[in-house]
Amino acid sequence: ESSVMWFRRDLRVRDNPALRAALDEGPVTALFVLDPALWASAGPARRAWLAANVLALADKVPLTIHHGDPADVVPRVAQGRRVHVAAETTPYGRRRDDALAQRVELVATGSPYAVGPGRITNGSGKPYQVFSAFARAWREHGWAEPAASPRSPDLQPADSHQKALDLLHRAVDDAPFDLPGAGEDAAWRRWRAFREGALADYATERNRPDHDGTSRLSPYLHLGVLHPRSLLADLDRASTYATELAWRDFYADVLWHEPASAWKDLKPALAGMRYDDPEDAVEAWRTGTTGYPIVDAGMRQLREIGWMHNRVRMITASFLTKDLHVWWPVGARHFLDLLIDGDVASNNHGWQWVAGTGTDASPYFRVFNPVTQGIKFDPRGDYVRRWVPELDHLPGKAAHEPWKHDTGYEQDYPRRIVDHTEERQEALDRYQAVRG
Ligand code: FAD
Repeated sequence: ESSVMWFRRDLRVRDNPALRAALDEGPVTALFVLDPALWASAGPARRAWLAANVLALADKVPLTIHHGDPADVVPRVAQGRRVHVAAETTPYGRRRDDALAQRVELVATGSPYAVGPGRITNGSGKPYQVFSAFARAWREHGWAEPAASPRSPDLQPADSHQKALDLLHRAVDDAPFDLPGAGEDAAWRRWRAFREGALADYATERNRPDHDGTSRLSPYLHLGVLHPRSLLADLDRASTYATELAWRDFYADVLWHEPASAWKDLKPALAGMRYDDPEDAVEAWRTGTTGYPIVDAGMRQLREIGWMHNRVRMITASFLTKDLHVWWPVGARHFLDLLIDGDVASNNHGWQWVAGTGTDASPYFRVFNPVTQGIKFDPRGDYVRRWVPELDHLPGKAAHEPWKHDTGYEQDYPRRIVDHTEERQEALDRYQAVRG
């Protein structure tokens, strides 16, 4: 029997259980719907990345691409046929799919996660609140083997909307910078190179923004160009890399249980906290001109390549929330606009973790010192010099402390916009005021 495979965050052919389920029933129309609501909320880099990966999929299989509200488009394309999908678990995706299920027969197989949200609960059937306990249960639960790849997928060609194709091609042309190679072949090449290279030292190297020690797979995982299960099949379950993939599943689980936590404090730990709205300082943070080298390097890396190293995401997030006393959603919104891996679960809960409102949060009183963090994780200053050319004349770790050197400001690097020691105390005072 003929059916529809509707691709969303699973833009791949390999190890795709929903596609497999559709093909098992007979001929399949493969569909992608460019949803104007999601498109409008994405910045140019995110649009380009999505577009490049949809077009890469369309190069591999006959994909029919439409533009419009899925609530209208999907029933029109389906014409009474079953519609296969991978389960969507974000608040927006769930609302959309619940509404569509009234109009078409949606068949969900698999999800974008190794262990789908809501699957892992503690002894009393409740979700885990703490990552380490979740990760233990996640390993015990385990995951399915990768789905067999279709030999010659029986996909029926169908016409695409010219408007949709135009929007995708224009988005690729308008990419603000060079994007990583799109599509699953590029993703697999990157995974194999990482597996045979940096993976061996990942546990120690992953915190070093000056080294290329992480996989850089997050933009692919975000769109399902690769599935985490395919990576886990190559890994020891107890490996550090598997634990990082568990964080991704954990935050999706947290969001699934508490959809409101996308934009509201997950925990009332800081209820009543006083926040500031310092426009100029926030603009300095966004543009990488705070005068704190590691913060500025990270914020410029974000603007210039749409990705930032995890350690520096933590440092820059801490700077906005603790040094500038800004409520975390302001920063989360900015990251989501620019990151090509921008993901509401990982990003917004990563922010809440730093801010002290999230799951087993770093305690509020642990305020990152941007100077000592910089020296510890970028000991030779290479990362700072790569992204902040005004500091490229300062050798070694001197790049982290231009104020200590006569020539520190000779290339017009900005002066520090706040005094970290004072702002740290201010953050602690505000914390005392709400925690007593
Ligand atoms: P690797 O170190 O190679 O890790 C492999 C994979 O594990 C990643 O691709 C990612 O899917 C997952 N992973 C690793 N660390 C985490 C983590 N802490 N939380 C969730 N998943 C993790 N990750 C995103 O994918 N999208 C985001 O929008 C995002 N925003 C973040 C915002 C803040 C404030 C913080 C502190 C972290 C954020 N992260 C986000 C997590 C992490 O920074 C990125 O996943 C990582 O930097 C991606 O680079 P990589 O693929 O080289 O990671």
